[in-house]
Amino acid sequence: DATKMKDFEIAEAAEKNMPTPGQWQERLGLEKDEIIPFGRIAKLDFMKIIDRLKDKPDGKYIEVTAITPTPLGEGKTTTSMGLVEGLGKRGVNVGAAIRQPSGGPTMNIKGTAAGGGNALAIPMTEFSLGLTGDINDIMNAHNLAMVALNARMQHERNYDDAELAKRNLRRLDIDPTNVEMGWIIDFCAQGLRNIIMGIGGRMDGYMMKSKFGIAVSSEIMAILAVARDLKDLRERIGRIIVAYDKKGNPVTTSDLEVAGAMTAFMRNAINPTLMSTVEYQPVLVHAGPFANIAIGQSSIIADRIALKMFDYHVTESGFAADIGFEKFWNVKCRFSGLIPNVSVITATIRALKMHGGGPKVVPGRPLPDEYVKENVALVEKGCENLIHHINTVRKAGIKPVVCINSFYTDTKDEIAVVRRAAESAGARCALSEHWLKGGDGALELADAVIDACNDKVDFKFLYPLEMPLRQRVEAIAREVYGADGVSWTPEAEAKAKRFESDPAYADFATMMVKTHLSLTHDPTLKGVPKGWTLPIRDVLVYAGAKFLCPMAGAISLMPGTSSDPAFRRIDVDTETGKVLGLF
Ligand code: ADP
Ligand code: MG
Repeated sequence: DATKMKDFEIAEAAEKNMPTPGQWQERLGLEKDEIIPFGRIAKLDFMKIIDRLKDKPDGKYIEVTAITPTPLGEGKTTTSMGLVEGLGKRGVNVGAAIRQPSGGPTMNIKGTAAGGGNALAIPMTEFSLGLTGDINDIMNAHNLAMVALNARMQHERNYDDAELAKRNLRRLDIDPTNVEMGWIIDFCAQGLRNIIMGIGGRMDGYMMKSKFGIAVSSEIMAILAVARDLKDLRERIGRIIVAYDKKGNPVTTSDLEVAGAMTAFMRNAINPTLMSTVEYQPVLVHAGPFANIAIGQSSIIADRIALKMFDYHVTESGFAADIGFEKFWNVKCRFSGLIPNVSVITATIRALKMHGGGPKVVPGRPLPDEYVKENVALVEKGCENLIHHINTVRKAGIKPVVCINSFYTDTKDEIAVVRRAAESAGARCALSEHWLKGGDGALELADAVIDACNDKVDFKFLYPLEMPLRQRVEAIAREVYGADGVSWTPEAEAKAKRFESDPAYADFATMMVKTHLSLTHDPTLKGVPKGWTLPIRDVLVYAGAKFLCPMAGAISLMPGTSSDPAFRRIDVDTETGKVLGLF
């Protein structure tokens, strides 16, 4: 009973009968060397599986996104897991892909994000504490580039050109005031946002200002999520800009001759990890990049093998459709060449009430009455936000399914309002009780999704890659965010013009940096704001990932740890070795 048990208790009970890697091998029809056990979980050998199944047609491709997030929560991961369980109950061969959580949020306030209630991914301890080490591999690969950079700067300072030539080194002449990359660590360590390094002597490195970001903000994480295979990963890692020389030319990982070694650290991380729902459908976990400077969703590689292995594959792109779906649509699918069948837009009645003008919620205080008692008018008004996202998904040629993620406070009339709004906007709609009842509660959703997968898809991108950057941003702002237009600072516009005229950037994706908490750049504005302009103040370039990132907001690549972080409540049972207190 999900109302009486905590998530970790539900997980623990289900973990007792979780398939072993050997059982998964048999169930998924894998060859022995395609599954690599790591204790209770396993990695899947991506290249072997894709090679064996390359001629098999892809399964149905189902994306899960949401209305604009509110502090009341929408339950995207919970809905993704619930949908997989519901499809499982219908007897179809189904699986999913979700992101790997970062150690920062897990030890801070967000928790692990494995779903919730009876719609949950397991095993929870492994999921929460680093799985098979992909993030460690990313940290090693990334930090090695910084080791290479700083050592090179020391050597170029200490040696003259003749000495450098003896060592077969060409002077890169790196500008210490124009170093792009920093170090990474997978915690929320605000004290490392700005540092001075190399304060020792001549042999203690090069003294410079530097910084740490959280590991999941690394460009290598961004690359892992969009690489099609190992060759693509190697090429992208080799193009990462680490710093600039004194003339302003980029210094890359290839210039530092470190890209090959970086990729060597990624040899296991390129393979997705296999987990399970609490009802034992397969769940792939692979990559967990940021949603501002990266796609914010699991990898192309995971989707590629999942579509070969499963007849129905559910992938969570997360966030609202203006961020999650837009990046899935115009970046992830463009890079992968995969075509989705349907999108599920997750909504809760409570969150719709907030979009309809419901009061703010204060953490730690009881919810205002509006959210626990019937209020049809607020739901009705809040449906504008839902309809906006339905229209966005329809622009891709997809007829979405709206999932009302059911809470015990929802009333019949409130639900009827959402159904009517969704259906008149051209979407299917299903009420789903997966949090409470697992797959049995998600049958209506599963049926709606199966039905939707029979629709003919007329998938089209919002813009062609040939469209110049500023026009693309205009299209995204107007068509996806509902803005009247875009304003550019002179610096941002000058940069954009430079990128538009340089053929080197012709195949770069447009990776918007905007808050996910509002359709606008202002996180406090809910609903569907009208009469506003999207301000772009800079354009960042991620040359390895091939992203141009127009910035409509600030990005923090290193979150801070709060005064009441989760780690205060996490411990181990020293008798059994079990980890306690994860959520
Ligand atoms: P998201 O992926 O949108 O961030 P999650 O799926 O992680 O959201 O859910 C956020 C939290 O809300 C989790 O703790 C989950 O257990 C809880 N939750 C989700 N759906 C429901 C529901 N229908 N009833 C009660 N709690 C829910
Ligand atoms: Mg989530």
